[in-house]
Amino acid sequence: MYRNFKIVPNIIFGRGCFNQLGDILKPKRTDADAYMVFVLDDVFKGRALEGRLPMEKGDLLLLVNVDDEPKTKYIDQLVDQVRAYSPRKPDGIIGLGGGATMDIAKAVSLMLNNPGSAADYQGWDLIKHPAVYHVAVPTLAGTGAEISRTTVLTGPEKKLGINSDYTLYDQIVLDPELLAGVPKDQWFYTGMDCYIHDVESLNGTYLNEFSRAYGEKSIDLCRQVFLEEHPDKDDKLMMASYFGGMSIAYSQVGACHALSYGLSFVLGTHHGIGCCITFDYLEDVYPEGVKEFRRMMEKHDIHLPRNLTKNLDDKALDTMANVALGLAPLWENCFGKDWKNVMTKERVLELFRKM
Ligand code: NAD
Ligand code: ZN
Repeated sequence: MYRNFKIVPNIIFGRGCFNQLGDILKPKRTDADAYMVFVLDDVFKGRALEGRLPMEKGDLLLLVNVDDEPKTKYIDQLVDQVRAYSPRKPDGIIGLGGGATMDIAKAVSLMLNNPGSAADYQGWDLIKHPAVYHVAVPTLAGTGAEISRTTVLTGPEKKLGINSDYTLYDQIVLDPELLAGVPKDQWFYTGMDCYIHDVESLNGTYLNEFSRAYGEKSIDLCRQVFLEEHPDKDDKLMMASYFGGMSIAYSQVGACHALSYGLSFVLGTHHGIGCCITFDYLEDVYPEGVKEFRRMMEKHDIHLPRNLTKNLDDKALDTMANVALGLAPLWENCFGKDWKNVMTKERVLELFRKM
C-alpha cells in the first residue's frame, strides 16, 4: 500500500514576506467578535518581532516557553487558557518560533477541536476532528516541523508525536530574515537536525525517488550553508529544512534519531543537540555523513558535550536502550528487515555508554 501523502497547501517564501501575514489572515477573520491566537516563543518578548505581529482588536498573544521540550500537560494548560479567554473558538492559531513552538501551535489548534488531553492522541491517526486553521512562522530552520504531519510531545508515559493529516499546517510563512539573531550553537544544532534527516533518508532502505529528490537537494543546500560562505545562507537553510522534511515524510529517519530519542527520554536532551551527540558515534553506520559532519563542526568551532551517561545506573541505561530499540521503523529503515540481528541491545548499550 502506498501512502496518500498530504502536504501544506499554502506557502509564502522570501525576505520580508512576513509583512504579508496580516493580509493572509484577513480572509480567515469571520466577524467583529472573532479573534486569532498568536503563539510566540517567549525569547521574542520585547523584541522587534513581537511588535511586528499583525494583531487586531481582540486577538490573544500567548508567550510560550520552550526551555523544556513541549509536554502534553503544557498543551492542555494552553488550551484551557484559550478557552478561558473566550467561549468561542479562535479563527486561527499562528505559531512563531523554532520546532518546539511550531509543535505547540499545532497541538493547540488540534486540541481546541478534539476532546480530552493531548496525551490521548499521541500515536498515529487518533485525531478525529480537523484542527483550527493554523499557520507557522519559523524563526529557526532545520527540524522540518513546518512541513511535517506530527507534533512531537512528551506525555506521562511516552515521547511520541500526534501524527495525523490534520496536524499539518494550513499555511507556512518562510521569511529567512527571521532567522537573524539565533545563537550560533543553536543554529548549528538545528541545522544539523536537517543534515541528519537527509543522511538518514538517503542511506535508508525505505528510500524512493520522491524522497531522494528532496533529500539530495536538501543535503546540497546544507553543504552550501555549513561548508561554504554565502550571503543568502539563511534562505538556503530555510529551504533545506523544508526539503529535508519532505524527504523523510515519504521515507523515515534512522539510527541517529532512534538513539537520540533514548537520550532525550532519560536525560531531557533537546532534539538538535541530541542528534549531534548520537550522530558523532555512528561512523560505522553513516561513514561519509559522520566524516562530513565533523568537518562542519570543525569549521564552526562546535564542541559537543561528552560523558553524559557516565553517572547513569544500569536501570537508566536499560530504559534508554529500550526507548531507542522501540522505534522499529527507524531501525528497519536503517538496516532492513533483519535489523534486530544487526542492532542488538548490547550494541545499543555500548553506544550509549560511550556518550
Ligand atoms: P527550539 O524550538 O527548541 O528552540 C531552541 C532555542 O532557540 C530556544 O531557546 C528558542 O527560544 C530559541 N530561538 C528560536 N528562534 C530564535 C531566534 N530567531 N533567535 C533567537 N533564539 C531563537 O529548537 P528547534 O531545534 O527548532 O526545535 C526542536 C523541537 O522541535 C523539539 O521539541 C523537537 O521535538 C521538535 N521537532 C519536531 C519535528 C516535527 O516534525 N514536528 C521534527 C524535529 C524536531
Ligand atoms: Zn530530527
